[in-house]
Amino acid sequence: MTVSTTHVPATDLGFLLHKHPGRVQEFQQSFGTATVFYPEASEQRCTAALLLDVDALRLARARGKDSPDFSLGQYVNDRSYAASSLLGVAMADVFRTARAGRCAARPELADTRIPLEIGIPVLPCRGGAEVAHRVFGPLGWTVSAEPIPLDEQFPGWGDSRYVGLTITGTMRLADALSQLYVLLPVLDESKHYWQGPDEVDKLLRSGEGWLAEHPDRNLITRRYLGRRGGLTRVALARLAETDDVSADTLEPADNEEARQPEDRRVPLNVQRHEAVAAALANLGARTVVDLGCGSGQLLDRLVKTPGFTKVAGCDVSARSLQHAARRLRLDRLSERQAGRVEVFQSALTYEDDRLKGFDAAVLMEVIEHVDPPRLGALERVVFGTAHPGSVVVTTPNREYNALYEGLHGMRHSDHRFEWDRAQFTAWADRVAAAYGYAVTMHGIGEEDDTRGTPTQMAVFTSEGDSSSE
Ligand code: SAH
Repeated sequence: MTVSTTHVPATDLGFLLHKHPGRVQEFQQSFGTATVFYPEASEQRCTAALLLDVDALRLARARGKDSPDFSLGQYVNDRSYAASSLLGVAMADVFRTARAGRCAARPELADTRIPLEIGIPVLPCRGGAEVAHRVFGPLGWTVSAEPIPLDEQFPGWGDSRYVGLTITGTMRLADALSQLYVLLPVLDESKHYWQGPDEVDKLLRSGEGWLAEHPDRNLITRRYLGRRGGLTRVALARLAETDDVSADTLEPADNEEARQPEDRRVPLNVQRHEAVAAALANLGARTVVDLGCGSGQLLDRLVKTPGFTKVAGCDVSARSLQHAARRLRLDRLSERQAGRVEVFQSALTYEDDRLKGFDAAVLMEVIEHVDPPRLGALERVVFGTAHPGSVVVTTPNREYNALYEGLHGMRHSDHRFEWDRAQFTAWADRVAAAYGYAVTMHGIGEEDDTRGTPTQMAVFTSEGDSSSE
């Protein structure tokens, strides 16, 4: 695999990758040796090459006794000649710091999108060149995937299952490496056999910021997890819990592997946005603040709805706010629009005057991220001090988790708790009584007879306030 840039001075690539352009370095892997060297290193263009020399014997040993596949195929295969998911694993190890986006010598460069060209001369590509276009294209890459003939001397034999892949684009290097880490095993024909129980976490971590929005996220998730149906369902359920999925990914992926009934449903977080937007419309709210707005998907929807005269969002995470600003194109708003939209950083457990004066506030999938001992502070800040005309709160219904096959524990690693319906109702009743609100309870998502809906929603309206009528 080669990684090239023309960002001047191009030799800064050495800093980003933490590998000196003047040296040849070897890194031992359980299945072979990875070598990093620079075929070219000038101011104008610099290329780092990762060469993986797979040792079939070591690979067979690394697979160990657990593997049922003790056959000749372990020793006689294409591993020495073709890129594979092994290359992804070696890359993740050798360029670990670069993939994490850390670079003490050039921190701003690590955060910058730079022109990149990544070449993989021989890549087994399940489903053919078209699949390479489908998985890399939506991420902003220009894809060239040239089928490699079975034998150049016998054109009649047709193409092999290998392609020569080149992707070019302007990306953060860390994003490019994370995408490759996921997508190499997705394209590779052979089994991604080193799956451990943390594969779902690895996938979601590497897929952060791009996988949930990818039109082929179902295909990618299924292939990455190697058709382990249970893991795949958990991963897709957890992807639906992130706020990355946008409404335009509603179309089910059109491919043989994705034709499963669950893919035809509207993703849960889209249903959640619809339900919250409908609740706000019902309340007649014209000014809204989205508390814990994340990457701003709901804000985007509200901004596009003419009825809202003021739309604000806040979050404790600066990174989420950056995403939101980008999504809302805050740098390009007309003056009139700019007065209507605002995002700011705020922690909901501390009083903040900027939260005051709204018709309605939204707490969508936020309270379960707050440590239980701090929840009282959030209640005081939101329902007490800010005291909007209405508050719409959503949170997972823990009873429903039993229907996510293979899900152990909570839906998201950052959740501090997940409540059943009785717990959420008790909380809502107590908060409503304490701060002078009336509250109604609702469900969002497909309802199960005994377990209810995946998401629950409480709508609070201030009793001393007529602005929300
Ligand atoms: N409301 C969005 C995001 C939900 S994820 C959606 O439904 O898609 C939870 C969000 O709450 C994260 O963005 C997190 O940064 C934010 N958050 C968690 N605790 C917070 C706090 N104390 N103050 C402000 N935001 C908080």
